[in-house]
Amino acid sequence: MSKLYLTSSVHTHTTYCDGKNSPAQMAQAAYKQGIQTLGFSGHIYTPADTSYCMTPDQTNQYKLDIAQLQQEYAQRMDILCGIEYDSLAPFPSKGEYDYTIGSVHAIYGAENGTLYPVDLSTEVMQQCILQGFGGNTIKMLQEYYQQVVQVAQYKPTILGHFDLIVKTNRNGVLFDEQDKGYLNLALEALDACIEQGVCFEMNTGAIWRGWREEAYPDDRLLKRLAEKKAMLTITADSHQQESLLYGYDRCAQRAKYAGFKEIFVLTKEGFVPCNLQDIDL
Ligand SMILES: [Zn+2]
Ligand SMILES: [Zn+2]
Repeated sequence: MSKLYLTSSVHTHTTYCDGKNSPAQMAQAAYKQGIQTLGFSGHIYTPADTSYCMTPDQTNQYKLDIAQLQQEYAQRMDILCGIEYDSLAPFPSKGEYDYTIGSVHAIYGAENGTLYPVDLSTEVMQQCILQGFGGNTIKMLQEYYQQVVQVAQYKPTILGHFDLIVKTNRNGVLFDEQDKGYLNLALEALDACIEQGVCFEMNTGAIWRGWREEAYPDDRLLKRLAEKKAMLTITADSHQQESLLYGYDRCAQRAKYAGFKEIFVLTKEGFVPCNLQDIDL
């Protein structure tokens, strides 16, 4: 099957954290869309910012709920119990989840120690640069990418939205993404993450929510990933049942255009390759 990537959606959120649908609703929608592997990746409990994550009690219930769905859908669809790890939380112990997505969602200001979510709003990031980093945008970017590299060192199954830091940077309002200073920083971090052997994701969440025109990571980073033969998968960072496979075909085209001959699809048995030779550009 040339579009094997359309059978797996493993970056998903439910009402247990900041998603709109319950695991049961997500499972029903996934099954209807022909998905073979549905993975739940609720936000791990992050004591420093509890606004979007699961509490420890919710996490226990989340696991039970998913275990029940696994039984309900046995023989019909594989359901994986994953977690989206956050740089502010302790990394989960081995075997606790079927897979992990490792992400950075917030950074501490070097000047004031204030925690700034990087994906909330342009205003928050303006404050972050101004007050958290004394107006030094490059320092802020260094801190973000340093955190991403640290997360990669834990070797999550998938490294989440590598360049999330551009999310609120519409029209370059925070910094110039074409600037060599930015690109070199991002590429250096990318290379360090590639060395850890993690699988990167093309994540369409920000397009669905109207923040960006294209999925992370940007074309220049994608090209480098292809050159270095890094592993790549497609995810929707889906927070509702309608977006489980959102933008996947476009991602496959971009991946092929960037030089990827194959991408990877997460299944119950781990990653399986998906050849892109039949994808039309
Ligand atoms: Zn995330
Ligand atoms: Zn997510």
